[in-house]
Amino acid sequence: MRIDLHTHSDRSDGTDGPRELLAHARDAGLDVVAITDHDTTVGWADAIEAARSTGVGLVPGIEVSCALEEHPVHLLAYLPDPAYEPLVAELDRILAGRQARLPATVERLRGLDIDISLADVERAAGPAAATGRPHVADVLVRKGVVGTRDEAFDRYLAAGRPAYVERYAADLLTMLGVVADAGGVSVVAHPWGRRGRSAMDADVFKRLRDHGLCGIEVDHEDHDASARADLHGIATDLDLIATGASDYHGAGKIGFDLGCNTTSPEQFERLLDTARIVAERAGRGAEAAL
Ligand code: AMP
Ligand code: ZN
Ligand code: FE
Ligand code: FE
Repeated sequence: MRIDLHTHSDRSDGTDGPRELLAHARDAGLDVVAITDHDTTVGWADAIEAARSTGVGLVPGIEVSCALEEHPVHLLAYLPDPAYEPLVAELDRILAGRQARLPATVERLRGLDIDISLADVERAAGPAAATGRPHVADVLVRKGVVGTRDEAFDRYLAAGRPAYVERYAADLLTMLGVVADAGGVSVVAHPWGRRGRSAMDADVFKRLRDHGLCGIEVDHEDHDASARADLHGIATDLDLIATGASDYHGAGKIGFDLGCNTTSPEQFERLLDTARIVAERAGRGAEAAL
């Protein structure tokens, strides 16, 4: 069983449509894939339909933009009820913050004498409900200002760079409660990714677990071997589920191919068992298409 629990479609900043994502998952030999677009569930319906026709199992999820004391944290929410009002309200607020950031980002870039318009970015975002810096980066690549998305972040868009604009993110502890009340399973995405390991130590994970966290995404391209070993140890000590995933973004992120990291069948079973327990307690949830 090959199980990849973190992927993006073009409903956020990936480049595959949800159906294409499932076809690519089949071609990559995956048995199960989770669609986890940033802050939106709009890709779920197409992905579920495509799962049935491709024979690849689908776990519907969301990668929610959160913050813990000003530090950005990405929270993977698996199988929450997508119609649960407090969840919808919070996602709407995040999406509105994403939308509001675009004109401000464009203005910053124009102030740097870069010829870019809001219409350019909206065109690049295409069907995305969650617009983001990667769409701005794509315009900069297309115009030849930079060579890659990564270079666009390094020069202009990353925190502290000249075209960086803050946006709203959900309070992490609050969101852990909202996800649980929606019948979903919470897993912290790439905790020791770009910010390094210092921001989230074992004590922080323990605190998060006490607020409803169920798992840690351990096997991720942003984690080196020693980070993975240490995170595995923390997950075991705290009895948290340890997942692995590609964080696939299609052509948008090089080296994050479908199935490049996977979740073991044992840990996946735990995740499904946890989902059943949480959904029963909440009286709501979503179905995996397996
Ligand atoms: P946003 O959603 O606008 O906050 O942008 C975050 C997205 O951009 C995530 O999908 C990241 O994978 C990607 N990203 C964040 N920082 C960088 C970076 N320094 N280089 C390339 N991609 C990045
Ligand atoms: Zn992304
Ligand atoms: Fe992320
Ligand atoms: Fe992601």
